[in-house]
Amino acid sequence: MAIIEVNNLVKRYGDHTAVNGVSFAVEQGEIFGILGPNGAGKTTTVECIEGLRSPDGGSISVGGIDPRSDSRELRELLGVQLQESELPDKMRVDEAMELYSSFYRNPADWRELIGILNLTDKLSTQFRRLSGGQKQRLSIALALLGNPKVAVLDELTTGLDPQARRDAWDLIEGIRDRGVTIVLVTHFMEEAERLCDRLALVDSGQIVAVDTPAGLVAKV
Ligand code: ADP
Ligand code: ADP
Repeated sequence: MAIIEVNNLVKRYGDHTAVNGVSFAVEQGEIFGILGPNGAGKTTTVECIEGLRSPDGGSISVGGIDPRSDSRELRELLGVQLQESELPDKMRVDEAMELYSSFYRNPADWRELIGILNLTDKLSTQFRRLSGGQKQRLSIALALLGNPKVAVLDELTTGLDPQARRDAWDLIEGIRDRGVTIVLVTHFMEEAERLCDRLALVDSGQIVAVDTPAGLVAKV
């Protein structure tokens, strides 16, 4: 059974329809990309999956749970990457990891995560003093703290320099290799091609195609 099922999702902001009948299923263990231009409805779609917005139509299941239920099970199933503005600016990295770990019943070993993410020498640094790439890696570490089965990564590499972007790609593959299913929102075709097992191409709130990267390239 698919770990995420989105059926005919509709989401409006006032009289603007941001997501207009989107359906797809994400299989356990895959990296599923959502690729499309700015304004296509990608973030709105994943925010509905995360339970941060309630759909105006359609239905969503994440591991059999309706994201609107705001249940503890959902929060433990799903690793949500915080936006930069939500990061605790003045906290030190070690303090933040300690605090956020306390939110989970079975947290991951945060020191191990920090090691994997190559941030061990930044433990006593405040968030706001980290570079863009380091902040991105920290936000991934926070998303993985609860040992989620699914991680949603929205525009993870936007604004990173090419080296930091390649590092982030290696990291995403490493997360998948740990058995985490990943939903990856991006507007870079190159990134989607490199990382995704399958991807949904979206435009103007609708799905244009769902296929493997190679299958999509063959179609266009
Ligand atoms: P994407 O992630 O693909 O860039 P979004 O889901 O952010 O697309 O946005 C889809 C559309 O909905 C855009 O036209 C955007 O301007 C609009 N939109 C997004 N968020 C809001 C909001 N909170 N209120 C009103 N309109 C919004
Ligand atoms: P819910 O999904 O719980 O109904 P939303 O987060 O979608 O709530 O927001 C409710 C309303 O607030 C939306 O219809 C939208 O018009 C408005 N809104 C939210 N964020 C913005 C924003 N950034 N800009 C403009 N309008 C917004």
